[in-house]
Amino acid sequence: RGDTPAIVVADLTRRYGDLLALDHVGFTVETGQIVALLGPNGAGKTTAVEILEGYRPRDDGQVSVLGFDPADGGRAYRERIGIVLQTAGFEDEFTVDELLRLQASLYPRRYDPGELAGLVGLADRRRTRVKALSGGQRRRLDLALGLAGRPDLLFLDEPTTGFDPAARRHAWDLIDRLREQGTTILLTTHYIEEAERLADRVAVLRAGRLVAWGRPSELEARCGLPTRLAFRL
Ligand code: ATP
Repeated sequence: RGDTPAIVVADLTRRYGDLLALDHVGFTVETGQIVALLGPNGAGKTTAVEILEGYRPRDDGQVSVLGFDPADGGRAYRERIGIVLQTAGFEDEFTVDELLRLQASLYPRRYDPGELAGLVGLADRRRTRVKALSGGQRRRLDLALGLAGRPDLLFLDEPTTGFDPAARRHAWDLIDRLREQGTTILLTTHYIEEAERLADRVAVLRAGRLVAWGRPSELEARCGLPTRLAFRL
């Protein structure tokens, strides 16, 4: 940990046919920072994140994540990143503990399942089957699964979409704890308040272009009062 940025993206470009989903996007995420990709539907957030995760190819540009090119990082790269996906349904018959143990077994620096359950507030649900969890508990389980390998970098796609205010606060507190542990986080969100509350830097994407980048407070200053205006730049 130290001086090398966690993520360096330059001139990142991705086309789908005639559509430019990412148009020469560039930004840098320092180690330990939380960066939010903010933007309306179709802005290119998911495309950008999946390229960084190594799940989508790019057409052009340079990408370095934890010193790897995600396009050919392989297992060594995957062991250092965490991706929070929504559980698909086949996990339903497992207990929380079984699923956490299974996921953690894939990683050399794995968490103990009890510790992981405690971290996301599921300590009292370890013996519960996944299918019996509430929606909010299930999302916390998804988060725990993404953290199972103690990632240096966590990708969080819309971490609180659909949450009620209490669940959102809980998720934000958890993200604060991860920050204290030094985890670098790249998250996508539609919520300005979420970006302001959590992020050290915000990247505003619109129609594939990076239209604003900076501290949340700087964006407010530059864009006039609410960062909301950034959507219209
Ligand atoms: P959302 O907030 O809705 O998830 P987003 O900012 O993540 O949106 P992307 O999903 O990256 O945006 O999509 C960017 C653009 O690329 C959109 O116009 C989308 O329709 C298009 N797109 C994404 N994936 C594909 C694909 N596999 N084939 C063709 N077009 C795609």
